[in-house]
Amino acid sequence: MNKTLAQNARRALCLVLTLCMAVMLGLSAATTAHADDKQKELEAKKQQLQDEIDHLNDQLDDVNADKATAEANKAQYEERSEVIRQKIEVIKEQIDDITAQIETKITEIDQKQQEVDQKQAEYDERWALFKEQMAAMQRLNDGGAIALLSSATNLYELLSFSHVLEEISDENQNICDELEQQREDLESQRQDLENQKAELESQKATLDESQTELSNTQSELADSIQAADSTISRAEAEAQALNESISQAEKDFIAAANELSAYLAEQNNKFKDAAISCSLNFICPLPSYKYISCQYGSGGHTGVDFAAAGGTEIYAIADGVVTVSGWHYSYGNYVQVYHGTDDQGNAYASLYAHMIQTPSVSVGQTVSQGQVLGYVGSTGNSTGNHLHLELRVNNARTNPLNYVPH
Ligand SMILES: [Zn+2]
Repeated sequence: MNKTLAQNARRALCLVLTLCMAVMLGLSAATTAHADDKQKELEAKKQQLQDEIDHLNDQLDDVNADKATAEANKAQYEERSEVIRQKIEVIKEQIDDITAQIETKITEIDQKQQEVDQKQAEYDERWALFKEQMAAMQRLNDGGAIALLSSATNLYELLSFSHVLEEISDENQNICDELEQQREDLESQRQDLENQKAELESQKATLDESQTELSNTQSELADSIQAADSTISRAEAEAQALNESISQAEKDFIAAANELSAYLAEQNNKFKDAAISCSLNFICPLPSYKYISCQYGSGGHTGVDFAAAGGTEIYAIADGVVTVSGWHYSYGNYVQVYHGTDDQGNAYASLYAHMIQTPSVSVGQTVSQGQVLGYVGSTGNSTGNHLHLELRVNNARTNPLNYVPH
């Protein structure tokens, strides 16, 4: 009797709870359309931000590639400029050397010219003397000689006198010839020096020309280096601007992700007062699977991945109410189910991602444990058929394998 009363009381309580839940679900069903719009908007925003980040990163890659090219060019220009600088240095040394040689030649030529001039003076002097002697002899011939000849006491004296005159003449002639010869030799030496100087000057002119050409090339390279520098500076400025944009977009992306998390939590919270009790007797979400392809927490993984054949049924791991049924760029087609609270008052929710097609259930729908929510696929950010299962306790993600038999 007591037992029956207690059973009846429990049944009555159950009925009240069910009615309450029905009212709540009715209310939430009215807001479902609005909630779906909100979810789509959040997910679209997140996707847009992700696209923006990708686009900015592409631009950054381009800018960095431009910068790298400019840097490589600059390095090449600098290398060539250095080679040319060294060449110019060598040429400058050669020019200095030749200039010194030319100066030496000029000194030598001056010196030689002085010698030539001196020889010319000696010659002129000797020639003047000779002319004077010849004039004297002429005077002797013109009559003076008679007296001179008549003063000769004998033939021998006379012959001797004539011979002396002849000798004087020859001697003068020889000296003059010798002086002339010496002067000509000196003049020839001076000419040689002039030729050597001219040769050196021609070499110097060639070197000057080379130096000018190299200097021009070097200044062209300096211009190229300057151009490369401005390309690098511009690339750096662009990269900085892009990095700032990326960091802002990433902040926005995180904010959008947080907004989505908040939305998922909010969706669960809407049903919190439905007083669904969670027995914690979860079941495996799949009738069969191949293997666990990615553990929870591995590389920041937010759930556990069950590799399974495409089209495998996905079961609700426990009774509950569907709080999200939609599309997400990363989750693909996905469902979130709120399972209510356990004895300690902890709230449980599960999320099933990458379904092959639009989920079989809609927001606000009550589901029972083992009910098909959808089918295994590879939609969203996925590389192969698998179920990505998440479990939230009090809206905080936790390892599903600690609760779900597998
Ligand atoms: Zn996953």
